[in-house]
Amino acid sequence: MSAPLPWQADAWAAWSARLAAGRRGQALLVSGPHGVGKTALVERLAAGLLCLAPPAPGAACGACTACRQHAAGSHPDLIVLRPDPGQDGPLAHYPVQAAQLEPGRSTRVISVEQVRALIEHLTRRARPGGTRLAVLWPADALAEAGANALLKILEEPPENAMLVLIAHRPGLLPATVRSRCQFLRVAVPPAAVADAWLAQEVGEAPRRALALALGGGAPLLAAELAREDPAALWVAVAQGVEAVLAGADPLPVAQRWQGFPAERVERTLYAWLRHQLTAGRTNLAMTHPAGTVESPPPPRRFSLTRAAVLLEELESLRRLSRVALSQPLAWEALLIRTAQAP
Ligand SMILES: [Zn+2]
Repeated sequence: MSAPLPWQADAWAAWSARLAAGRRGQALLVSGPHGVGKTALVERLAAGLLCLAPPAPGAACGACTACRQHAAGSHPDLIVLRPDPGQDGPLAHYPVQAAQLEPGRSTRVISVEQVRALIEHLTRRARPGGTRLAVLWPADALAEAGANALLKILEEPPENAMLVLIAHRPGLLPATVRSRCQFLRVAVPPAAVADAWLAQEVGEAPRRALALALGGGAPLLAAELAREDPAALWVAVAQGVEAVLAGADPLPVAQRWQGFPAERVERTLYAWLRHQLTAGRTNLAMTHPAGTVESPPPPRRFSLTRAAVLLEELESLRRLSRVALSQPLAWEALLIRTAQAP
């Protein structure tokens, strides 16, 4: 058995080598940017950990009772902890915890109550020879109190229990939690590998190139973005920022951006900024879908000060609630501060 996605071969090899050497550990932190397939990798490694007759370290036989239960999402020793149990998407078929189903709970953080229920799950005895497995996804959503409660179990892990944390931004986790985990990192693949994989889903090369640029090279995220007409937003953002930098009124630009989900505008701004900073080294024409805009102007010099200001503005918006972004005011302020920077 190999990694579920072509660019995960190194991560998979590292994992199976650890298992072969008897260094499984009791807490694993799987990290990597959004859209590189961390949950797909975790599903596969969970199958291997639960399998009763693994044919090789890390692999699952696919035929035993445990493998069948895992595939059906009904394995009694596996549980997923996540902020919003009702959410679709990866791992949605895994059992979630009863504590997560309390009404009126915030669906953005993993709370201390949830972590306590998880500890209960892990300290119950697994079936003879089996492993009790808990997956936290995304682990970045752990509230401070939740992380503290988790420390208890990381310090004295029960026998035959294993915790898998999945994080886009592992730096957000307390160092005390990170230091008790083994790491498994899934990196963004080389551009050619990402493009070849994406070509199975998206036929047009310019659309693929733009989606990959917007997704920071992460193939699964790019696939998602490619479905949403990324060109319209790229044009709105690129032309909008350039117009404001050239002296245009920022308000109409901000209002136009309101027509798109805030998260997508934010992502596009990051991509635009990355593009400005690497201009001359990457080919802008690749990221302008043919026919949607005239051939791109030569990249303007974008001062580092200005880039720093824009980056700072984006980071502070990210820290604020998304609610703030539902007002064109936030975009207008960002544009004004960027334009004012020397
Ligand atoms: Zn099996």
